[in-house]
Amino acid sequence: MTLTTSGVPTYHNDYYLAPVSAQASTSVAVTPVSHTEMSLIAYTASNISPTTVALNVCPAKAATTTTTNMGPIGYMISGEAIFNPYEADAGATPALSDNVSYSFTTSAGVAETAWFIDSCNSHSTGGGGGSTWHYHGVPSCLTSQIDGNSGPSHLIGIALDGFPIYGGRDINGNTIAVSQLDACNGITSPTPDFPSGIYHYVLPIGVTGKQSSLNCYSGSVSQSQLARATRYICGLDALNKRLQASARARRAKRRLAA
Ligand SMILES: [Zn+2]
Repeated sequence: MTLTTSGVPTYHNDYYLAPVSAQASTSVAVTPVSHTEMSLIAYTASNISPTTVALNVCPAKAATTTTTNMGPIGYMISGEAIFNPYEADAGATPALSDNVSYSFTTSAGVAETAWFIDSCNSHSTGGGGGSTWHYHGVPSCLTSQIDGNSGPSHLIGIALDGFPIYGGRDINGNTIAVSQLDACNGITSPTPDFPSGIYHYVLPIGVTGKQSSLNCYSGSVSQSQLARATRYICGLDALNKRLQASARARRAKRRLAA
């Protein structure tokens, strides 16, 4: 199956926070965990990249799992990407646990609050051109439309390995606990779309830690798929370097304190 998407989100805020860059160099906030300096950016639809991706819709579990890449690891039925839990420092800081906001008044006198990640668990990569709109956890604005406030989760996306992605409720509408999921956030159980049961990924409700999204694929993903996905995050190199420098500084500080 070939998916073509504009990548433009259905829901977005007017303003966001993004790591300080050459284009937006004024720091207005610092994230709580990775201590990344953030600047204010306006949402700009024309910066968001469209994409076309080939997905295997007859997936099978592989003998071993594959760690999820940075960049897109799947796509929502609304067209946005899903990323793994981490922003740039793979495996270290879950993005949803590193959220921060900044309140300000526009030149027109309107009170605004900009977040790093919005209430739908989404934002874009960086502030510059060619960015990818993506989720780091359950796309709550999408699931509230499709599942209502308490209904069972329906199919909301597909991972790069072809397995379907669901929100955080089982077929009876009960919240699925992280402890019910495997290391890749997978579970085999009935869903409204597959009543006799299917292996699928779950984006659990209210989870901001390391299982907010998929840490691995249970099925096969080709190297070319991974390389293609990772290309979308080249703009994050600078952020990655800053996060590593920040971690080095914290380690040095701890050594001094010891
Ligand atoms: Zn992100």
